[in-house]
Amino acid sequence: MNQKYSYQCSDCSKQIPAGEIIYLCPDCSAKQLPNQPPLGVLKVIYDYKALSELSFRELEENNFLQLLPVNDQKNFPNLRVGKTPLYKIDSIDGQVNDFEFYLKDDSQNPTFSFKDRASAVVSAFAKENGIDTIVAASTGNAGSSLAGICAAQGQKAVIFIPSTAPKAKLTQIMMYGATLIPVAGNYDKAFDLSIEATKRFGWYNRNTAYNPFTIEGKKTVSFELFSQLKEHIPDYIFVPVGDGVIISGVYKGFEDLLEIGIIKKMPVIIAVQAAGSCNLVENIGKEEFVSTPSDTIADSISVDIPRNFHMAAGYITKYHGQTITVSDDDILRASSILAKNTGIFTEPAAAAAFAGFLDYKSRYLIPKSSSNVVLLTGSGLKDLNAVQPLFEIPLPVSPDMHSVEDFLKTVKFGI
Ligand SMILES: *Cc1c(COP(=O)(O)O)cnc(C)c1O
Repeated sequence: MNQKYSYQCSDCSKQIPAGEIIYLCPDCSAKQLPNQPPLGVLKVIYDYKALSELSFRELEENNFLQLLPVNDQKNFPNLRVGKTPLYKIDSIDGQVNDFEFYLKDDSQNPTFSFKDRASAVVSAFAKENGIDTIVAASTGNAGSSLAGICAAQGQKAVIFIPSTAPKAKLTQIMMYGATLIPVAGNYDKAFDLSIEATKRFGWYNRNTAYNPFTIEGKKTVSFELFSQLKEHIPDYIFVPVGDGVIISGVYKGFEDLLEIGIIKKMPVIIAVQAAGSCNLVENIGKEEFVSTPSDTIADSISVDIPRNFHMAAGYITKYHGQTITVSDDDILRASSILAKNTGIFTEPAAAAAFAGFLDYKSRYLIPKSSSNVVLLTGSGLKDLNAVQPLFEIPLPVSPDMHSVEDFLKTVKFGI
């Protein structure tokens, strides 16, 4: 197996050489207490000193393979994963931005969520190492993503998912031909079952904050941002947070660049959580982790015990990140503003990041000439129910022009 990387425990900092498939630090995970965030999540590290010979462009030309646990590009799916657009937005609701504002639209991934970045790397690693069945527990997007990526790769996917997940996500999993195991219980139950199944059947596990390669996939967004901003880092990045894996991925990407010496400082990353599910940001810096039951329309960031709490909190603290919570009303309003102003319709979890940006903008002066990015992580078509409170689809008009004219008197044009 590949030796260009090794693992480092995000809790005890012990280094573990690459070799056998490993998920958590054996020492730290043995100390796991019930109802507490997982211990022993591993970080993948590279020989940064050797890599500092290379320019960013050289790394990019090689699809960043030097910084991924995969050796051969041909083991990646034949789908366009990542390489998503970065849109510059000049004004919102008629107000011209006096700073640079960008949307990174990761709903444009093959299965319409950011999760494809992680699935692609896990799947490519599996392919390179002769593994044909991958299992995951998911609240929806990780499962639909793994199902789609495995379909593209000729691999088998087994997905444990709460039966209450949005129908579009369950439908995707079925359509991609994966084995769907709906669980009459929450995500934590699905997670535990998937781990048991991994041990029982010898499958490879993609669970987030368990398989260390998911973060390696997620970090690619930072490389892309750096490239799309012409080798500059953004000043602020707003990231929606549930388990804290995406935000750790964003940090890890920039941290890799920092370690290599390509960048000199980190961007300020703003962790946005739903007010009804803010167990990650609320527990940062606390002596003891206390979980409050989640209640938010943003199902992808509805999390009782954030699986990647320790690593995400560590990054936010170390690199002076900031945190914001937004209400479900803020999320719905942001979702509508975003769609009407930009033509991008996202699911509530992604709209939460934009809501966080709007809130930040209303409270602080965003420095002129600063560049600001909101990470849009999933498509609105994945959860149509969530936005139903925003509007009613009009009743049909009779098929004659007179009725159309009458109808038009009742509608307001524009935004
Ligand atoms: C998974 C997901 C998130 C949150 O990611 P975490 O790693 O759980 O913090 C945000 N938005 C969407 C659309 C997601 O699918």
